[in-house]
Amino acid sequence: MPYSPSVLNNALEAVGNTPLIRLDKIAEQEGLQCNLLGKVEYTSAGGSVKDRIAKRMVEEAEKDNKLIPGQSVVIEPTSGNTDKGYSVIITMPNKMSLEKEAALRALGAEVVRTPTEAAWDSPDSHIGVALKLQREIPGGIILDQYRNLNNPLAHELTTGPEIIDAVTSTPSTTAKPSSEKVDVLVAGAGTGGTITGISRAIKKTHNRDCIVVGVDPKGSILACPDTLNVEGAGSLYIVEGIGYDFIPDVLSRDTADVNSWIKTDDEESFEAVRKLMRLEGLLVGGSSGSALSGALRWLKSAEGKCIAEKKGANVVVLLADGIRNYMSKPWFLKMALEAEPSPLAKRISDILKES
Ligand code: PMP
Repeated sequence: MPYSPSVLNNALEAVGNTPLIRLDKIAEQEGLQCNLLGKVEYTSAGGSVKDRIAKRMVEEAEKDNKLIPGQSVVIEPTSGNTDKGYSVIITMPNKMSLEKEAALRALGAEVVRTPTEAAWDSPDSHIGVALKLQREIPGGIILDQYRNLNNPLAHELTTGPEIIDAVTSTPSTTAKPSSEKVDVLVAGAGTGGTITGISRAIKKTHNRDCIVVGVDPKGSILACPDTLNVEGAGSLYIVEGIGYDFIPDVLSRDTADVNSWIKTDDEESFEAVRKLMRLEGLLVGGSSGSALSGALRWLKSAEGKCIAEKKGANVVVLLADGIRNYMSKPWFLKMALEAEPSPLAKRISDILKES
């Protein structure tokens, strides 16, 4: 939970205000001279970067009298990280974790599963089913994170300023040199609200020359130019929350907002999750691994090399949620439980055999 010096009135006040944490061990292992900084979103009340947009979309709809307490039923197609205490129906593809469904149901939401392979515009997809339910259920309203400007705005007004504040209020020292600027931002894209909103905050108010790098899984079509999306086109991927088979309206594909894109696969993402856990003690989810892997690959590319070698340059990586959303997933169980036994594990086993 983010630290607050005073008593908070409710869980909503514990949304956001997440820490920016140095990833020094990974930076050292990768031979980076720049600072690698993780924006750790799992400390938010709901455990995800998406808390921020759920809060803002609902509060703005309340202000516009679009939501009526006791009458409105909020219906949202999502990868399961976007929810707030209202009468809620979540439509969610089958591939999304059981932990997300269980958490949503424990909060009182109805969860409807849809086929992962259904195209976004098919009546069977999470979007198609949400539209059908909205037509049939009185008071049904879809706030629509894919089109709602309050999605990127939530990040332009909170996530972005928090990152800028943290970087500008941490003075450069000899031991820890800093440009005191956000030089690079790396984030995965699902709806694209996170990357678009943070980019706008940084470029409009802080550093016009910040390089914003989007991360998109192979099999998705969000990366720009489109030629990047050819390899692995149409394939399914396991990482949750990033990538789509359509371009959401809130994702800016303007190269001024998102300067560059990196395509990632499941394997490198999960390996990066392991690194974040083992080296930095950060219990992040799969898309955070994609973001880190994308950042490291970009820093090794011709474009990123000069930043990687620059002492004090600040590279911020958005770590969108936590591993507790994925603990029953085979990829996590394999990583956690099937690792090569350590010398200590062998010693323990010997001692127990002897006794
Ligand atoms: N990571 C996870 C785990 C998510 O749930 C999401 C949201 N779908 C994202 C990253 C991407 O965020 P955005 O929708 O703002 O692009």
